[in-house]
Amino acid sequence: NKQIIFKDYVKGFPKESDMILESSTIKLKVPEDCNDAVLVKNLYLSCDPYMRNRMGILEGSYIDSFTPGSAIKGYGVARIVDSSYANFKKGDLVWGLTGWEEYSLIKSTEGLFKIQHTDVPLSYYTGLLGMPGATAYFGFYEICSPKRGETVFISTASGAVGQLVGQFAKLSGCYVIGSAGSKDKVDLLKNKFGFDDAFNYKDEPDLNAALKRYFPNGIDIYFENVGGKMLDAVLLNMRFHGRISACGMISQYNLEEPEGVKNLFNVVTKRIRMEGFVVFDYYHLYSKFLDTVLPLIKEEKITYVEDIAEGLESAPSALIGLFSGRNIGKQVVVVARE
Ligand code: NDP
Repeated sequence: NKQIIFKDYVKGFPKESDMILESSTIKLKVPEDCNDAVLVKNLYLSCDPYMRNRMGILEGSYIDSFTPGSAIKGYGVARIVDSSYANFKKGDLVWGLTGWEEYSLIKSTEGLFKIQHTDVPLSYYTGLLGMPGATAYFGFYEICSPKRGETVFISTASGAVGQLVGQFAKLSGCYVIGSAGSKDKVDLLKNKFGFDDAFNYKDEPDLNAALKRYFPNGIDIYFENVGGKMLDAVLLNMRFHGRISACGMISQYNLEEPEGVKNLFNVVTKRIRMEGFVVFDYYHLYSKFLDTVLPLIKEEKITYVEDIAEGLESAPSALIGLFSGRNIGKQVVVVARE
């Protein structure tokens, strides 16, 4: 069983060498003493920014740190090989929390969803139909309360979550602008995902001036993926009664001292509602999400771009790539296709 082992807690930017490829033998059976467990063959693994947080020492967080010496844990799509849990049978496809390895023994099946719809690419359950898709859907509709004609700004807009938020916002009749870190990504936003406009934040020495140019009348809704300087500039450009969905702050994850936000008082004066959320607050509504999004995919009202890395060996480099913006779209690792 090839595995990607987490070496030790990380400070600053993670490196490929923080993860080691190892091989061992395992029995492809759930041990006798494990009730309600499954043994899965991993097919697609998801690289997600929050995994960086699990590489550090976490205290009082909503998740635990990875365990040094054990396989990295993350979202993935897998096939059941053996099961002692009545709801999952050999051959079933699932998505949810698994390990960065060829086969995983999953002792708690709570975090697993059975895949019922296989007429879409299976890898979508790491992105569009998995955790990032649910993040985009609930983070936008539940927190931003969008109304037709409102202005929406999305940072990290071409990624796993952002590309969907933009498309949902367009479907809601909003005026949508995204920022991303390269010309190719900006082109995708404008030409593939249907954003009204987009800009490369790296080409903008003054983010406040850029936002004033793109939103002369201000921003009603900000979908926050990045934090730091961008959040500060957005606060200056929010409209009265604006909403900020605080989804993530990737610019801060590798900093030992997080950047202070200077313009927070705008939340008071402009009566802005800023709300943080973690996607698993909404997993009980997952079937509602599927009922809405599956038809949108079939009617081609929504599209999705993935960045596919081949082989378990490529997983460490793919994960690190998120923090330099190397991924274009949802970063997926293919371990096996069936
Ligand atoms: P992406 O697919 O967007 O990949 C990460 C991207 O972040 C990179 O491609 C890069 O894009 C950008 N980035 C990396 N480093 C920096 C930096 N220092 N400053 C600015 N941008 C940077 O990731 P996801 O779509 O999966 O995640 C987007 C956000 O959503 C993250 O903040 C994540 O933590 C959050 N999230 C929150 C969840 C929740 O439950 N609240 C669940 C899932 C995700 P670029 O080239 O454009 O800079």
